[in-house]
Amino acid sequence: MTVQPIRLFGDPVLRTPADPVVDFDKELRNLVRDLVETMQDEGGAGLAAPQLGVGLRVFTFDVDDVVGHIVNPVLSFPDEEEQDGPEGCLSIPGIYIDTKRRQNVVANGFNEHGDPIQLVGTGLMSRCVQHETDHLDGVLFLDRLDAASRKDAMKQIRAAEWYDAAKPPLIKESPHGRGIFGLGR
Ligand SMILES: [Zn+2]
Repeated sequence: MTVQPIRLFGDPVLRTPADPVVDFDKELRNLVRDLVETMQDEGGAGLAAPQLGVGLRVFTFDVDDVVGHIVNPVLSFPDEEEQDGPEGCLSIPGIYIDTKRRQNVVANGFNEHGDPIQLVGTGLMSRCVQHETDHLDGVLFLDRLDAASRKDAMKQIRAAEWYDAAKPPLIKESPHGRGIFGLGR
């Protein structure tokens, strides 16, 4: 288990939908350990496998001292309540933009051993679960912003020292309608 480098905005792996996990083997458990260790080393609230360059549907979370992981998550929303607040991403360092998400979420999936689990999230945990599940679909929180906020975010990103102009990023429209659903730190 080791801290791994995090892929940054502009890396195509962040725009590639991840594959469902089929084998709940030692390799998966090593991946979960790498995700937890890297997430905690960076002080993040969550980390998805594509951010380490691995195209599998698994993410870890660390919200209000609740640390865990979920494999092959499927989200549902128990109500219509929304939240709005600053959201960031370890793959887009230093950029925080108010992003609308659902206040409550239920994630059904599996643990690293293949046992079914259910994760019920509210507030920041709900934001985290939506943000990380988006990563598994190749979606970034920028995609959830309205046009003005996205323009502001892109301006900040272009000015960021980590930004590589040689790898132009792709912003896509949210398939779910803007600003409803996504994570924070
Ligand atoms: Zn992220």
